[in-house]
Amino acid sequence: MARSACPTLDAPMLTGDGYLSRVALIDAITPKQLAALCSLSIAHGNGMLDISARGNLQIRGLTLASAAKLEADVRALDLPLREGLAVEWSPLAGLETGNDPRPLGLAIMEAARPLRGRLAPKLSVVLETTGLIRLDDLLADIRLVATNKNAWNVFLGGTLQTGPGIGCVSDENAAECVCALLTHFADIGPKTRGRQIDMSSLPENVLRDLNPSPPLVRLPQQSLFGLFALGHRTHALRVALPFGQIKAQALAEFAQRAEGFGIEGIRPAPDHSLIAFGVKEACANLHGVAEQVGLIVKADDPLRQIDACPGSPSCNSARLETHTLGRFAARETPALFDGSLRLHLSGCVKGCAHPTPSPLAFIGTENGSHLVFCGKTTDTPIKHLAPTAEKAALAALARLIETARRDGETNHDCLVRLGPNGIAAALGEGP
Ligand code: SF4
Repeated sequence: MARSACPTLDAPMLTGDGYLSRVALIDAITPKQLAALCSLSIAHGNGMLDISARGNLQIRGLTLASAAKLEADVRALDLPLREGLAVEWSPLAGLETGNDPRPLGLAIMEAARPLRGRLAPKLSVVLETTGLIRLDDLLADIRLVATNKNAWNVFLGGTLQTGPGIGCVSDENAAECVCALLTHFADIGPKTRGRQIDMSSLPENVLRDLNPSPPLVRLPQQSLFGLFALGHRTHALRVALPFGQIKAQALAEFAQRAEGFGIEGIRPAPDHSLIAFGVKEACANLHGVAEQVGLIVKADDPLRQIDACPGSPSCNSARLETHTLGRFAARETPALFDGSLRLHLSGCVKGCAHPTPSPLAFIGTENGSHLVFCGKTTDTPIKHLAPTAEKAALAALARLIETARRDGETNHDCLVRLGPNGIAAALGEGP
C-alpha cells in the first residue's frame, strides 16, 4: 500500500519489520479480548504490538498471508471495530460528565459510508469535548469542538491551535454539515485534505448550517495519567507503552491480571497509552502490574517525551539502535526532559515515529547519524555524528542546557536562543 495510506485490518502496510495491521477501536474492549489480540500477535506476527500516537492498536511483523488470517481471527473476536472514515473522540467518552460525542461520531461514520474510496486515506474527523483527556494536538481534517450550547465550532485542518475556524453548527445539523464538507472534499479530488480547502468557496449546503462561532474558550490542556476517578464508582488507570511498543507476552500478562482484578474495560488511547476502567481497588492493583511488565506509570517519566521507531535490529532499514539510545537518554540525561523538548530517535530518514518536525532528532545514516534541530528527519542536519557518538552528544546537550538555561526559560526556549550554531559548537569540532 502507498506510504500516504493508513494501515487497516484489510489493507496492512509494509514496514521495515514486515506488514503492520491496525486494529482501530471505537470503544473499550474486555481484558480477555485484549489478551486474545496479544495471542494473535504471537500467532500471526512477530509478537510486538504498538499503540500509535493517535491511540490505535497495531500488530507488527506480519506476512501478507498471516495478515489475512489475522483479519479473520480479529473479526471473530467481536470487537467494537472502527470501519471506514477515522472519526476520533476522547477515550473517556461516555464515562465522564458532559457531552458524549459518540452518537455524533457514529452518525458521521454512517453518513460518510457512501464516500468510501473518494476520500484521502489519512483523512480524519476529531470530536473534541474538552473533557479530562483532550485531543487538541491531534491533526484533524475536520475538527468539531463542543460549545456549551448544544453546538460545535468547526475547524478545518491542523491542530486546535492552528486550524482555521469556519463557524458553529448545531448538534442537530452537525452530522449533515460534516457530510456536506466531506462530499466537498471528495468532489475536489480523492487526495483533498482539510488544510487545502479554500474557505471562500465552501458550498451552500455547508454554509447554510453554519452560524458565527462563539469565542472559543481555550481551557488549559489536560492529560490525566496514572490513577484517577471518573465518578463515584468508576476509576481509570492510564499507563503508556515506552516508544509506543510492547511485547505481546508482557501485554497479555497485564490483560490477564486485569481480568483477575475485575477490570471492566481497557482502551488504547492517544500518546501511546492504554486506559483500564474499573473500581478503584482494581485499578490500583493493576498499577503495580503495569510497572512490572514494563509500562510507563509516571506522568513525568522522560520516556514519555521520546519518540522512537523500532530502529535497529527490528527494522531492516534502521541504522540506529533507537530504543537503546532512548533508554540511555531517559536514564542518563533527564535534564533534557522538562516537558518542553521532545526527542525524536529515528532509525533512518523515513521518520516513521514522528513525521512532523521535532525540536531535536537523531537520524541513523549509513555512516553515523544526523542531528536535526527543529525540523523533520529530511531537513538539513546541524551536525553529523560519527558512529556511536550519539550518547556523548546527548550528554553534551544536557550539560549545555544545565549551564546555559536562564531563569524562567524552558529547555526548548534555551536551545532556540542558542540556535543551531550554539548547539553544534557544544557538540565539539567536526562537520
Ligand atoms: S524510520 Fe525506523 S521504522 Fe521507519 S523505516 Fe526507518 S528505521 Fe524502519
